[in-house]
Amino acid sequence: MSNKKNNPIFVTQPALPPLDEFTKSLEKIWDSKILTNNGPFHKKFETTLSDYLGVKYISLFNNGTLALITALQTLNITGEVITTPFSFVATTHSLWWNNIKPVFVDIEPNYFNLDPKKVEAAITPQTTAIMPVHVYGNPCKTVELQKIADTYGLKIIYDAAHAFGVEKNNESILNFGDLSILSFHATKVFNTVEGGAIISPDKKTKERIDHLKNFGFTDETTVIAPGINAKMNELQAAYGLIQLKYVNKYIAKRKQVANQYREGLKKVSGIGFLSDAEGVKHNYSYFPILIDAKKYGKTRDKIYEELKKQNIYCRRYFYPLITQFPTYKGLDSARIENLPVAKRVAEQVLCLPIYPDLEVKFIKKIIKMIEGKK
Ligand SMILES: *Cc1c(COP(=O)(O)O)cnc(C)c1O
Repeated sequence: MSNKKNNPIFVTQPALPPLDEFTKSLEKIWDSKILTNNGPFHKKFETTLSDYLGVKYISLFNNGTLALITALQTLNITGEVITTPFSFVATTHSLWWNNIKPVFVDIEPNYFNLDPKKVEAAITPQTTAIMPVHVYGNPCKTVELQKIADTYGLKIIYDAAHAFGVEKNNESILNFGDLSILSFHATKVFNTVEGGAIISPDKKTKERIDHLKNFGFTDETTVIAPGINAKMNELQAAYGLIQLKYVNKYIAKRKQVANQYREGLKKVSGIGFLSDAEGVKHNYSYFPILIDAKKYGKTRDKIYEELKKQNIYCRRYFYPLITQFPTYKGLDSARIENLPVAKRVAEQVLCLPIYPDLEVKFIKKIIKMIEGKK
């Protein structure tokens, strides 16, 4: 069976809320004429979302990147920030936009998150914070990282763009560190088309974030800081409120897809995948496999191209590493000899299609192709 004539299968496909429900919300917006600036849908979405996630305070944003940039502004982070090369480029770009020097540290080999064992050696008098990423939604080693941060007086801002709904020992992963950011981009587990958020631990911090995302206004005539415009609008918030009713269903379906891949691929020599960490409630946002070319008999790029020819578009998240891009390449910490684990994973990783409506026949086809039986 070739998928050539059919629609292409991408690494993800957004789940959209039922159109009739969204239309009802749109009618309310058309009646009220309130489109943005902390309107009724925005207010309701913030409280409903913080209850759902099990976090204290949440500030909604128009995307995750501006949430990251604003999180750094909120804590007045300057100088150098320790971060990972194995992420989406927005993680490091948020530092660049704040005139902060990124200092790259290698990842650990189990879940590909920033390796706490290597962080200490990268701390200098200029270091003010650590920006780790819960890659693929797998929690970072939060306890070890916090210990280092406490010892050296550093802040931690988690890029939790992949970690919507993830819990560790029944606690939201978003409650670790000083701040966490989320992305609700169309490609993420939970989407508001574009969107994002900052999770903060106390009211004062939330208020500061809310001022910063609205030009620095605290009231009609007072501007306390050079803020930006990063507000979520009422259409996004209304859409998000409906999405929230269905997100558990979306995640349950993703889990089924992940389990089918695991079952189908477990006996294929040279193919590795991540297992669910103990005590962690996962969101199955991605399904990365690692291809050991020697054992598998084929490189990652070869199988990636073969799948592409069948109209199946996997993604090599995160290849190239952020340290390969011209903006960061020249930095000392970007030298590839310092990042052996990230280098290997970036060469071996392939993210297979995973989304709620992915049909079983395509899952089977992908497994067959990777097995080399097709
Ligand atoms: C998606 C993503 C972002 C950026 O979020 P946007 O909402 O697209 O701006 C940041 N970091 C990581 C790790 C991401 O995957």
